[in-house]
Amino acid sequence: MGRKILYVRILRHSPEPEEIVAFGAKLCYSPIDVDKLDTGVQSKEQGDFISKLMELGHMSPLEHASFTFAIEGVSRSLLAQITRHRIASFSVQSQRYVSEHSAKSEGQVFDFILPPRIEALGEEYIEIYQKQMEKIQEWYDFWLEKLEETGGQGKEDARFILPNAAETKLILTMNARELLHFFNLRCCNRAQWEIRKLAEQMLLEVKKIAPNIFKNGGPECLSGPCPEGKMTCGKGAEVRSKYAQFN
Ligand SMILES: Cc1cc2nc3c(=O)[nH]c(=O)nc-3n(C[C@H](O)[C@H](O)[C@H](O)COP(=O)(O)OP(=O)(O)OC[C@H]3O[C@@H](n4cnc5c(N)ncnc54)[C@H](O)[C@@H]3O)c2cc1C
Repeated sequence: MGRKILYVRILRHSPEPEEIVAFGAKLCYSPIDVDKLDTGVQSKEQGDFISKLMELGHMSPLEHASFTFAIEGVSRSLLAQITRHRIASFSVQSQRYVSEHSAKSEGQVFDFILPPRIEALGEEYIEIYQKQMEKIQEWYDFWLEKLEETGGQGKEDARFILPNAAETKLILTMNARELLHFFNLRCCNRAQWEIRKLAEQMLLEVKKIAPNIFKNGGPECLSGPCPEGKMTCGKGAEVRSKYAQFN
């Protein structure tokens, strides 16, 4: 237990995600019966169908392809942000059922995330942060013990003392349309660093499986003006060059 770092992988995805999206496009634009759909959408055509959908802004066929991610090494602070994405499905490790109780004899502390800006301050400050986590662990253990003495569900209330830094693990499913929207918002320099880092990792993973769908995935400024107005990071060119290297 202790400091954790981001880990993300695709657990499962729709089989042939680009083909299923292309089937949707083909059905919309061709006089074809459904029993003929799964013959004859060649892989070259899949890319063409997907590009056509994107150009037209006809995004609903992208909802047929979905991706499930296993994610750990993220904070409860990230959890609060990512769960705002309502078209996604989530399974999150529960602090009601899973204890953060320390193995005191080993001087352990619950898993937590260290923000890079604190890390950059150097060893002295990393140690202060670690000590603060240990203190919170003591408070958690105190409440857990006290509440369990009274025969209650200790974890349910002891967790109130845990910080936003506490690590969590989740399984997340999004369809391709929602993923593109998520990348628009969360790969942006204006998004908070932790969710941005996660979004970038997720984008790199889905690009391996569905390169045509996610070819232009990333912040909105890759394909149009910055939506942030006066709050713009002003680094559009830098951002575009960074994402060009993702392909
Ligand atoms: C840089 C940044 C800063 C932020 N700051 C704050 C903040 O200070 N405070 C705060 O509370 N949140 C903040 N947020 C979160 C933000 O307001 C959204 O809740 C979050 O980004 C999810 O976006 P969404 O609603 O578009 O996504 P989703 O929930 O994934 O929805 C996708 C799309 O579906 C449609 N949709 C979904 N549900 C509905 C509905 N009920 N009615 C109509 N259309 C719907 C919309 O078109 C929506 O864009 C911030 C987000 C970012 C990226």
